[in-house]
Amino acid sequence: MRAGQGILSRQDAEPLTLRARLVLTMHGPPLDGGWVALKRGRIVAVGRRSPPGRPHDLGDAVILPGLVNAHTHLEFSDLDEPLDADGGLPGWIRRVVAERRGRPTDRGDAVRRTILAGLQESANCGVTAIGDIATVVFPDVYSLPGPRTRVYREVIGLSAPAAAASLSSAGRDLDRLASAGVPVGVSPHAPYSVARHLGREILARSRRQGLPAAIHLGESEFEADFLANGRGPFRDLFEELGVWPIPAPQLLPAEEWITRLSRSPRGIVVHGTFLGTTAADLSLARLARHRDRLCVVVCPRTTRLLSGSMPPVARYRDAGVRVAIGTDSRASNPDLSVLSECRGLVAAGACSPREALRMATVDAAWAIGFERCSGMLAAGRPADVAILRPEAAIGDPFVTVLDPTTRVAATLRGGRLISGSID
Ligand SMILES: [Zn+2]
Repeated sequence: MRAGQGILSRQDAEPLTLRARLVLTMHGPPLDGGWVALKRGRIVAVGRRSPPGRPHDLGDAVILPGLVNAHTHLEFSDLDEPLDADGGLPGWIRRVVAERRGRPTDRGDAVRRTILAGLQESANCGVTAIGDIATVVFPDVYSLPGPRTRVYREVIGLSAPAAAASLSSAGRDLDRLASAGVPVGVSPHAPYSVARHLGREILARSRRQGLPAAIHLGESEFEADFLANGRGPFRDLFEELGVWPIPAPQLLPAEEWITRLSRSPRGIVVHGTFLGTTAADLSLARLARHRDRLCVVVCPRTTRLLSGSMPPVARYRDAGVRVAIGTDSRASNPDLSVLSECRGLVAAGACSPREALRMATVDAAWAIGFERCSGMLAAGRPADVAILRPEAAIGDPFVTVLDPTTRVAATLRGGRLISGSID
């Protein structure tokens, strides 16, 4: 057993206080020489200067809430590098489908191992909470030590038979997850891949059962034209894949999806890169109107790969839209590091380090409905904590956290180490 686990294992019997050069609670000012007191897996107090009892001193470390990855697809976590994005989103989807079809059909164990690898990689990156989009589910993996996860079961289907099959397998999976106590949500994949009837059915379940929902919208410059006129690279792709039905499916524009999503208790629009680009497009106005329920989750490195630009965070901000951050999957991203996503946004001038970290903690926790347990350090909450070790001298706290030489030393979920060591 590592020494760090030894220290933490005493918690059930006695409190443990972690002291560090800097504590970022993400709901108040940075605490120089701060401390966090833990007991039985929860935070019991946060403060600065005189900690209770004899603290465990982490030295020149930074303690912050465990990071939250509001959008990923862990079932692609075994890919060593992103798939080629030549041809934009339709070209990339062609490669994703080829990748899936090229795998053995009976690969349940392999997918389970892949999801476990993604959970561990996330923990190694300081992540303690995840919104995962899943097409197959393994309820047992979420009771193992690792980040707390909301599993959004995805549905996809353009033809009536494909939609019916997707809906019924999703229903079975949601029941299995819920009976195992796993937080769940639903995800109609995207407006170009989900027929209107299928979207209506899955969002009705979301409303009936109080489940958060997530959908990819505004991902491609070809999307709006395809939804309106049924033509362009998406149509070519679907015909090539043999999934374009006759008669053509009824598809909904992004604005209509946003209205329907707003009837769910919590809804995520993933990416949204091409929403609100014309005066006639009411998407962002609708997202802002429903900001008590809806937000956009941006995945900066994926957007850069598939669209050649960074997410238009300033446009969302100006419109009053709430924004959180995610990594998307290893099919479009080199790793599952939320901090690297934040660095990308800041380097592009899209937001300040403080704003980026808020999107990766408080806002991302809200996005996946975990605002009561994740995203900030406060008494009474689970002890979900990331401990970072800066290499450079500590200056501005938020710049220090995002410095590329700063490394994640340890990650705790509910007061237990899920990665690294605190010694
Ligand atoms: Zn995605």
